[in-house]
Amino acid sequence: MNYICGAFSKPYPLIFILFAGPAYFETGSLILSTMSKATKIFKFGGASIKDADAIKNVASILKAYAEHKILIVVSAMGKTTNALEKVVDAYVNQSEDLLQHFETVKQSHFAIIEQLFPQGHEIFTSVSDTFVEIDWMIEEDPQDEYDYIYDQIVSIGEMVSSKIIAAYLSDQGLGTSWLDARDVIQTDNTYRDGKVDWAQTSKNADRVLPVKLADNDFVLTQGFIGGTSENFTTTLGREGSDYSAAIFSYVLDAESMSIWKDVPGILTGDPRLFDNVTKIDRLTYMEAIEMTYYGAKVIHPKTIKPIQNKSIPLYVKSFIDPEGEGTLISGDGEVSYPPVVVVERDQALLHISTRDFSFVAEHHLGALFALFDKYRIKVNMMQNMAISFSVCVTNIPRRIKGLLEELDASFNVRMDEGLELITVRHYKEEVVKTLLEGKMVLFEERIRNTIQLVVKDVPVMKRKVEEKA
Ligand code: ADP
Ligand code: ASP
Ligand code: MG
Repeated sequence: MNYICGAFSKPYPLIFILFAGPAYFETGSLILSTMSKATKIFKFGGASIKDADAIKNVASILKAYAEHKILIVVSAMGKTTNALEKVVDAYVNQSEDLLQHFETVKQSHFAIIEQLFPQGHEIFTSVSDTFVEIDWMIEEDPQDEYDYIYDQIVSIGEMVSSKIIAAYLSDQGLGTSWLDARDVIQTDNTYRDGKVDWAQTSKNADRVLPVKLADNDFVLTQGFIGGTSENFTTTLGREGSDYSAAIFSYVLDAESMSIWKDVPGILTGDPRLFDNVTKIDRLTYMEAIEMTYYGAKVIHPKTIKPIQNKSIPLYVKSFIDPEGEGTLISGDGEVSYPPVVVVERDQALLHISTRDFSFVAEHHLGALFALFDKYRIKVNMMQNMAISFSVCVTNIPRRIKGLLEELDASFNVRMDEGLELITVRHYKEEVVKTLLEGKMVLFEERIRNTIQLVVKDVPVMKRKVEEKA
C-alpha cells in the first residue's frame, strides 16, 4: 500500500482490496485460528540496533529462535528520531542548516549499510528511495501544520531501519518478510499521538498477517507508526514502539511479547540516575501500569493494557545478556515489591487564581481542563485550595506558551519551572529521606503505598548556610 507523503505518493490500490478483500479474509481467519497462538512478538528499540555490531547482535539473538514464528517490531536506529526532529524544526523554520541535518541522518545510515552489505546490494537503492520522501517534502515551502509534517518526516527513521534489518536477516539465512505497519495499525489523524482504531486494526491484521506469517517464520515491521484511513502516516508518541508491539500482540493473540533493552530487566529505578538499583524479577500487569503511568521510562505507558486484556506475558530482556531471565510481567500471583523510584524531569508548577478574587470553582476547573486537553498538556499532580488551583505539568515550552496566553484572559498564573516530580511506589521513609537530600519539596501527596513529591534543587549557597547553622 502506498502512503502519502506531501503531494507525491499514489493513492491506495482500492480495486485490488475490493476484489481480494473477502477471499483474504476467509483464508486469513482460518490460518489465524490455527497458527497465531504460536506467534511471539519481539521488539528491538533504538539502542539495540544503533550500529552495525548491534544489528549483528540482533541477528545472533534471533538465530536461537529460528524455529519460531516471530513478528519483529523495530524502532529507528539509535538516536535517529532526535536527529529527524532537528530536520523537522529546520524545515519548518526554513533554517540554513536543513540540508546538513538531513545529510547527517542519511550518512549515518549509509555508514551502517556499508558495514553490513556488499557494494551494489539492492538495500542501497531501497534506502535512498525511502529518504527521497523527505527530499520531496522539504523541496516545497512548509504549509501544513507542524505535527503533520513531523509525522511524515520522523516516521522515515523506522521505515529505513526496518528495511535494513529485514534485508540483513534474510542475508543471514533468517528468511524475513518486511511488513508496512501502516497496512495494519490504523489511527485517527491526531498527528504525533495517533489514537488506534482497534476494530479497523484488527480487521487489517486478519487480512494481512496470517498470510505473511504462514509464508515466513519472521515478519519484520516498524514500531511507532500507523496510518490514517486516508493513508497519511501518523506516529504514536515518542518511545511508542513498545506500544506498537503490544498492538501487534493483541491483534495476533500472541503467545508472548519480549522487549529487548540495554538493561537486565525492570529495575527499582533508572540506572542513569541511581547506582544502587536492583532487578525486579516479576511484576503484575497492574504494577507495571502504575510504574509506567508515573513515568518509568523503561516501557511506554500505553503498552501494558492491550496485553493485559489478552493475558499475554511480557518479558523485558537484555540484548546484552540474552540468556538472562529479565523481568516477567504477567497477571497472576501476589508479588511484594521493594521501593521503586520514578523521576520525571522538566516539570512546572502552575499556580492559577481568578482575576475577580472569586474561589476557583467547578466551572473554572472545567475550563482549565479543556485548555490542558487542547494544548495536550499532561497533568501529573494537582491541588485545589481556597483561592488557587495548583497543578504540576510536564513543561513542553511550545505547548505551555499557548496555554499561558489563553489563561491570561481570565486568570493570574504564577509558574515555577525546572522542577522534578519524584514518585516512590511501596515507599519507605528512609528511602524518601535519602532521595530528598539537597532538594526542597514544593508539593507532596501520599496515596496508599505511593508518595509523589515535586521538588527543586536547593541552591548550593543556601545549602552551605543551612549546614553551618
Ligand atoms: P529502547 O531502546 O527500547 O527505546 P529505552 O531507552 O526507551 O529503550 O529504555 C531503556 C532505558 O530505560 C534504560 O537504558 C534505562 O536507562 C531506562 N530506565 C528508566 N527507568 C528504568 C527502570 N525502572 N528499569 C530499567 N530501565 C529504566
Ligand atoms: N523511534 C521512536 C522514538 O525514538 C519510537 C521508539 O523508539 O519507540 O521515540
Ligand atoms: Mg526508546
